[in-house]
Amino acid sequence: MARSKPLNGAPRYFAPSRPQAPSPAARPTPPRRLPADLPAAAGIGMASERARLRMVAALAQSGVRDSAVLDAMASIPRHVFVEQAFASRAYEDCSLPIGHGQTISRPTTVARMLEHALAPIAPPARASAVVLEVGTGCGYQAAVLARLVGQVVSIERLRALHEQARGNLRSARIGNLRLVFGDGRDGVGSMAPYDAIVAAAAGDRIPDAWLMQLKVGARLLAPVSEDGRQTLQMIERTSPSDWQMTRLDTVRFVPLRVGTN
Ligand code: SAH
Repeated sequence: MARSKPLNGAPRYFAPSRPQAPSPAARPTPPRRLPADLPAAAGIGMASERARLRMVAALAQSGVRDSAVLDAMASIPRHVFVEQAFASRAYEDCSLPIGHGQTISRPTTVARMLEHALAPIAPPARASAVVLEVGTGCGYQAAVLARLVGQVVSIERLRALHEQARGNLRSARIGNLRLVFGDGRDGVGSMAPYDAIVAAAAGDRIPDAWLMQLKVGARLLAPVSEDGRQTLQMIERTSPSDWQMTRLDTVRFVPLRVGTN
């Protein structure tokens, strides 16, 4: 597997020539209970639960093996996080508007990213794992992550969405999720290093800060724009000075923007 050394202090990573098979799924930790009082959109309580279970069954059928990820996605009401007009489509496998020109990621994409990101973390270690998400958006993926690991830090550059996510998550009283307002290209140094980093917005390259804030042995999953399309890159920090990159799927995320708004 190809590797590279940091150049002039800047971390680099290197693409191996052939794609890697996904790691074998870890045995899940027993799901921790979230208070079940996330606000339900009016009139779609039970129906949404059935739709959510169908969504999770489809995810399993599509190859998602980590049952902790599936359980977490079965427990978070996705319809609460999308614009009300789209709530009835919340359990379809598509991205949907969340306002401010942004979108909630497709369930398949969320599941695959989290499965890959958490694969190196043994189930007992997940309870103390700290994970950074760049691009909180509506807060959906952050809520799913909070079911899976000990501590989630999620950063968003649009104040309106940062506040919206806070509102979406308020009644869930998730104690292990810290929402940060700021430019996530710098990561969140105060909580680093991370056991995994997931980004929900695509830049032209992976910021050095993310590479440096990743623990050795940990994975970073991020979409990157290259050659006119976006690829989901999986980067593993294999030593303090080595990173190994694998290209996974072609994906479509919103752009990673500079600064805050
Ligand atoms: N995690 C969300 C997806 C949100 S879409 C989900 O659960 O589906 C991606 C988000 O990344 C958008 O809200 C966008 O505003 C945010 N974003 C883009 N550039 C960013 C940056 N530099 N720092 C932090 N957030 C950023």
